[in-house]
Amino acid sequence: MIQWIAFHGKLLTRVRLFSWGIIADKSCVLCGGSEESHDHIFFVCPFSIAVWNLCLLKCSISRPPLPLRDEISWGLANGRSKSVYGLIFKLIFAASIYFLWGERNNRIFKAKGMPWQGVFDLIVENLHACLCDQETSAAVDDSTREALCQRIEIQLRCDLRAMAIGSHAQRPPQSQQFN
Ligand SMILES: [Zn+2]
Repeated sequence: MIQWIAFHGKLLTRVRLFSWGIIADKSCVLCGGSEESHDHIFFVCPFSIAVWNLCLLKCSISRPPLPLRDEISWGLANGRSKSVYGLIFKLIFAASIYFLWGERNNRIFKAKGMPWQGVFDLIVENLHACLCDQETSAAVDDSTREALCQRIEIQLRCDLRAMAIGSHAQRPPQSQQFN
């Protein structure tokens, strides 16, 4: 649901709340340097760029992050295939929006945040869980899935590896994933 709302520019960003007179500060809580709009959060904000840049590398995509609308266009043009990397791109793109918006909300409503590396780790953990899910990754054969999981685990910190296996606590519901 969050992804769908973001795609349509309907998230309650601080720029929108400011325009309605609800809040007095429209600065981005992730970087503190710009106004918090959809285009800024996904993916112009330095915090988001750092996260999404590593996600692109995880997908073996060698290009810089693009603004949200351009990422959607790119995904529609390149991510429709049933290839392994097409599947990974869909999953990691949906998870990135989910966890970046979640990090933004944690900072505002819970007064706690984590560095961008922590958000990236959550995204990778989610990707790992999805790849281990037979239903989600039905297009991937077992040997490919195993190879991908090994690759992801190698890049995880040691203390996160144990959490990655079987942890579904922070997974976006299937209905929220990018199709
Ligand atoms: Zn920012």
